[in-house]
Amino acid sequence: MHYSIAIDGPAGAGKSTIARSIAGQLGFIYVDTGAMYRAIALHFLRKGIDGHDTVSIEAECPHIKVSLDYDEAGGQQVLLNGENVTPFIRTEEVGNMASVTSAIPAVRAALLDLQRDMAKRSDVLMDGRDIGTHVLPDAFLKIYLTASSRVRAERRYKELKEKGLACHLEDIERDIILRDRQDMSREIAPLRQAEDAVLVDSSDMSIEEVIDTVVAEFNKKKQHTTIL
Ligand code: C5P
Repeated sequence: MHYSIAIDGPAGAGKSTIARSIAGQLGFIYVDTGAMYRAIALHFLRKGIDGHDTVSIEAECPHIKVSLDYDEAGGQQVLLNGENVTPFIRTEEVGNMASVTSAIPAVRAALLDLQRDMAKRSDVLMDGRDIGTHVLPDAFLKIYLTASSRVRAERRYKELKEKGLACHLEDIERDIILRDRQDMSREIAPLRQAEDAVLVDSSDMSIEEVIDTVVAEFNKKKQHTTIL
């Protein structure tokens, strides 16, 4: 039996920064499931397939193989049909496409087994939208990490500015609200807080405070539970 921690929440809540750090501290494998949805979305973009063309997307799914690899520093690399596409998936275009195509059942089915398999083989910290509700309903610890849309937009704005990219706070916030709506209102595996998840609102917390809160929740639970 292995430990699994599920961290779900909306775009820009800081899940990956926090998850990567906690996985490192606990010696768990970090599985960024958003990167998998982004890799599939990149495939559709490259093929010129419309994100709403469900028929073409379903026909294409059997030809897509997503896999994960880890570099020496424990960094996750995502492979699309054997090609390491990690450097190409962090754009707004890929993120918006991923949000549209992840609502299609065939796309979710293509990734579910791989995600569950990883949790069977190792201690994992998995982040996404449906990990606690759907992928790992028996996860040892579930966290729902959120922050106000304004705070999430401000963080993203700062990141882009630091990279020297032109952007507007209002546009970023509008995109975030749209993405939340798409992720929360889809029929299959929508984003929502699992009943047994611990809610962490990071709007007024530093990254370190969030990390300490999650690690404390894990240690508390570990003290009171025996896993077989
Ligand atoms: O977390 P990230 O922004 O990289 O995810 C990109 C998109 O992939 C999300 O907007 C969401 O639609 C989708 N996703 C999902 N289920 C997950 C992880 C991501 O539907 N477990």
